[in-house]
Amino acid sequence: MNSNAFPTYRGRMEYFCLGCNEAFSIEKLHYTCPKCRGVFLLRDNSFDILKKTSGEKWRDKFDNRAATKENTLRGIFRFYELIAPVVEKDDIIYLGEANTPVIPASQHLEFLLGQRFAFKNDGQNPSASFKDRGMACAFSYLKKMAREKGWNQVLTICASTGDTSASAALYGAYAGAPFKSVVILPQGRVTSQQISQPLGSGAHVVELPGFFDDCMKVVEYLADNFRVALLNSKNAWRILGQESYAFETAQWYNWDLAGKALFIPIGNAGNITAVMAGLMKLKELDIIDELPRIFGVQSSHADPVFRYYQEQPDSRRFKPVEVSPSVAQAAMIGNPVSFPRVRSLVDKYEKIQGPGSFHVVQVEEQAIIEGMLLANQNGHIACTQGGECLAGMLRARELGILEKHETAVLDSTAHTLKFSGFQEMYFSNSFPPEYEIRPKKQYMNLPFQILSIEDRDKLTKQDFTRAAVEKIAKMLELDQEK
Ligand SMILES: *Cc1c(COP(=O)(O)O)cnc(C)c1O
Ligand SMILES: [Zn+2]
Repeated sequence: MNSNAFPTYRGRMEYFCLGCNEAFSIEKLHYTCPKCRGVFLLRDNSFDILKKTSGEKWRDKFDNRAATKENTLRGIFRFYELIAPVVEKDDIIYLGEANTPVIPASQHLEFLLGQRFAFKNDGQNPSASFKDRGMACAFSYLKKMAREKGWNQVLTICASTGDTSASAALYGAYAGAPFKSVVILPQGRVTSQQISQPLGSGAHVVELPGFFDDCMKVVEYLADNFRVALLNSKNAWRILGQESYAFETAQWYNWDLAGKALFIPIGNAGNITAVMAGLMKLKELDIIDELPRIFGVQSSHADPVFRYYQEQPDSRRFKPVEVSPSVAQAAMIGNPVSFPRVRSLVDKYEKIQGPGSFHVVQVEEQAIIEGMLLANQNGHIACTQGGECLAGMLRARELGILEKHETAVLDSTAHTLKFSGFQEMYFSNSFPPEYEIRPKKQYMNLPFQILSIEDRDKLTKQDFTRAAVEKIAKMLELDQEK
């Protein structure tokens, strides 16, 4: 088969409201249900046609496509039929997103923790977080709409804990006219790297005092009252693109996810929604036989989903929480937009794979940052949310809900460099008290000062070099080479 050929299948997609079960046409931009304000998932009413192809044929198709040189099929659209089979080839924006590596824990780390596990490094996406998966999908759909409707200006807007704006601004800048990007950020609540990204991509950046949840309200009001395209996770197209994480993980493990446990940090809960939705599609098409177990992870400083699932099924009531500062800052959300999606998908997931196939664990700030530091001191590039997943894996083991024979796959949702400020706070013991983090010597690492500025002024260049060499040799107890 020609793996470069663009797929011919087209789906009949529509928005499906999880609040009132009504469906709406994708010919209009929708974010929440016009009837009940519920959140949407997108569904393909032709999905049953895909079932006529065997699981084996699908696996072959996707494995063949993995070798394509055709850019439009190299990213999330390797899985075109399962993602958004309504966009045309020329609508697709590809910036090198997706197909991120799964890196097994270093031998030492695996030995130390006594668990087989790997990081999927979603920080190796173009804007350095998994948000690019969803953005590639949302922008490809927007390009289709702009082309079909002849729009001459589209303002794209989002509120963000940092990474959504970085991603939206990047894809918006690449797409160019008619798109113009605006991002709204909580002042002082995103890292300096994260704010430099949308600024660097030329977006309009607005800062508001407050938290993410406050920014979200402003964005929603704007979307309800003005003609703008919303790129927050209410945008169901983003969820579709993020499903690629599940497809890739399955493909990486040769389409066998039995005995695997996927750890996903939960913020707005879009990512965990996408992963579960994607896995269930694979199962429905017989592409995989068994669903892996899913572990959501939340910090005790922002844990509404954990609290919900702590309750017995009959007494579960969702309550937003007030967040306090967290190093897993990208997941610091008290009222997750996608919670109704999670609730609906977990019910289905557990029906298929049985009770115990879905858990949410809660971890402490100290364990999150030390999870990141420990991983990175062993050659990984985990962000704080990746550290949160590591902490979640240890917590699950402690609770006896993760077995020793299982392989954990930890989602490192961003690149560690985005969160270097927290590493710096740890190493210099300068966390504000709200974080409740007390640095331990074993994880600290600071540069050594071996010579002073006065030494530099006083010594000749040659003596300066010699003095430095002597100090370093002494400090590291180097043996003299004879
Ligand atoms: C957005 C984000 C999260 C949280 O994902 P949700 O889909 O909001 O649950 C976690 N980590 C990083 C790096 C993010 O950017
Ligand atoms: Zn509705």
